[in-house]
Amino acid sequence: MSGTNVETAGVVGAGTMGAGIAMSLASAGIGVTLVDAAPEALERARASIESTYRSAAERGRISPEEAAARTARIARSQTLDDLAHVDVAIEAVFEDLALKREIFGKLGAICGPAALLATNTSTLDVDAIASAAPNPERGIGMHFFSPAHIMKLLEVVRGRATSPATIEAAVALGERIGKIPVVVGNCDGFVGNRMLLGYKREAEFAVLAGATPAQVDGALEAFGFAMGPFAVSDLAGIDIGWRAKQERIKRGASPPFAVSDLPDVMVAANRLGQKNGRGYYRYEPGDRARHPDPDVDAIVAAERGRAGLEQRAMADEEIVQRAVYALVLEGARILDEGMAASARDIDTIWLNGYGFPKARGGPMHYAQETGLSSVLETMRAFRAADPAFWRIPEGLERAATRGTWPETI
Ligand code: NAD
Repeated sequence: MSGTNVETAGVVGAGTMGAGIAMSLASAGIGVTLVDAAPEALERARASIESTYRSAAERGRISPEEAAARTARIARSQTLDDLAHVDVAIEAVFEDLALKREIFGKLGAICGPAALLATNTSTLDVDAIASAAPNPERGIGMHFFSPAHIMKLLEVVRGRATSPATIEAAVALGERIGKIPVVVGNCDGFVGNRMLLGYKREAEFAVLAGATPAQVDGALEAFGFAMGPFAVSDLAGIDIGWRAKQERIKRGASPPFAVSDLPDVMVAANRLGQKNGRGYYRYEPGDRARHPDPDVDAIVAAERGRAGLEQRAMADEEIVQRAVYALVLEGARILDEGMAASARDIDTIWLNGYGFPKARGGPMHYAQETGLSSVLETMRAFRAADPAFWRIPEGLERAATRGTWPETI
């Protein structure tokens, strides 16, 4: 099945992601059957799909007829048996390996032998999911980003058994539904979320060393990010990132460097972000303006003591270097491991899924423009005090000597 001639699709799981993925498909003319075990989830999805298309029509973005046609293209069902005819099935059920394996096993038996079987997992091992199907060469990760009907980025995650034809079909399908697909390897966090860990770690380090959340956010916003990392955490909920960290620890996939415990102490202090008016900033009811909070300074000071750090002033330039070079560091490792095909692919991911400033061309491009040898020199200076984190990958040393990232690998 080539992705360009997909006529019908199944989406399993009608939650936030499933409903958004169904809309992405339906908007491109593909008939969708949306399956969920819970009737109330199907009803919620129906209401949200209808209202999204209705409001697009009200804003003049599509005609009322088009809105009706798109809505009508999404059928709902409570049984996987209704997916026997689909050309592609995308699962977006709860993030639970046993559940996803069960769904994949069933889909493999129910769908035709040529159907593409995709998982939207964001943290689980694509091989462990795909191997539950009798035809794992048809299995692949299609990692959509939230909200799935709006976000352009699509990480296409190739598993060990995924066939080249399956990768091609998933990329073609992604393009047809207006996404920007990037093929990545099956590693923890894939490419985007894996790189995000180091970026957040260095932002937290800057605060522990002496900067305030407002200074860090301000420095990265001046660099061009729409929102700094602490403002993003407050918006998303500090507990969301904290829960993801607990899950990572549980599956033994914590990164090979110490991540700060700042989010843990914030959650323990019931500072969850905008949702309860108290996060890295304080918020007034009904207002998203960020107010510095001395209580946060006290939490940070205690954490600084525990981490054995001396408070010092940190220049905005160092804050940006730490956060952005942490991206470059992990990006170089990802290239060394062959988890992305090129520095340009990594940039595409960061520009389209993570709000990296467009004018900077992506973290890898930015590093090359800055001068890879000067970036490396700064990393070596950071490494002196923090050798475990700033371990320099070999490919970066070679790239610095050459002055450019390698061509597509
Ligand atoms: P969600 O909880 O909103 O929806 C999951 C849905 O799956 C629920 O409606 C549930 O009823 C349904 N479900 C559970 N068991 C089922 C079964 N046996 N058969 C059919 N349906 C079943 O979750 P979500 O946020 O939409 O996330 C879904 C997936 O997408 C997860 O794997 C998640 O990691 C991934 N993901 C989420 C995001 C995000 O930002 N939320 C981003 C990328 C990927």
